[in-house]
Amino acid sequence: MSFTVAIDGPAAAGKGTISKAVAAHFGFHHLDTGLLYRAVGKKALNYSRTSYYPEIAEQLALELTAEDLQATDLRTAEVAQAASKIAVIPQVRTALVQFQKTFAKQEDGAVLDGRDIGTVICPDADVKLFVTASARVRADRRFKELSAKDPSVEFEQVYQDVMARDARDAERDVAPMVAADDAHLIDTSTLSIEEAIQAAIAVIDAKK
Ligand code: C5P
Repeated sequence: MSFTVAIDGPAAAGKGTISKAVAAHFGFHHLDTGLLYRAVGKKALNYSRTSYYPEIAEQLALELTAEDLQATDLRTAEVAQAASKIAVIPQVRTALVQFQKTFAKQEDGAVLDGRDIGTVICPDADVKLFVTASARVRADRRFKELSAKDPSVEFEQVYQDVMARDARDAERDVAPMVAADDAHLIDTSTLSIEEAIQAAIAVIDAKK
């Protein structure tokens, strides 16, 4: 029988880490839906670094392949910004809906993390979590991640990028980032990774 866990929240709140751990713990499949938007955003950058054309972005979303999600450069700051820009285009979101819904209904159970999983993709999910943390804490985590690969990265720039992405994700007209009414809130600002994972597992255990 399918069992769906929807995990939403802003950038660098810890939902990716929690989703992977939850999937491993319960033997569920995991889909990081941000990768879908990042892969489309990366391809859109090849057309133009300044403008995003809805028709082109929609076509890129429709043509997305499993290999596109394996690209090694989807985690850059530039691709993150591009992802959040094409994510406001309604046709792009529509093009990606069915794949996510089908993934969610797998027999062995599924965990999907993103921004609109509990509200739009899986409104009937068995468990919904909204994972968040203060903007400073999230920027600090992202800064540590990015500066390990590129020492020239500056904290203030990372902070501004996180804030800009939050605003774009929360304020867009279609499928904005918002906690579903029935979502359990997990604030990871002062939690260790292990504590955050255990909090998520406890909510799911209670439901199972
Ligand atoms: O989760 P991640 O930071 O990789 O997501 C990149 C961007 O993709 C987000 O900032 C957001 O704009 C978009 N996204 C979305 N809906 C999702 C997942 C990601 O709009 N379900």
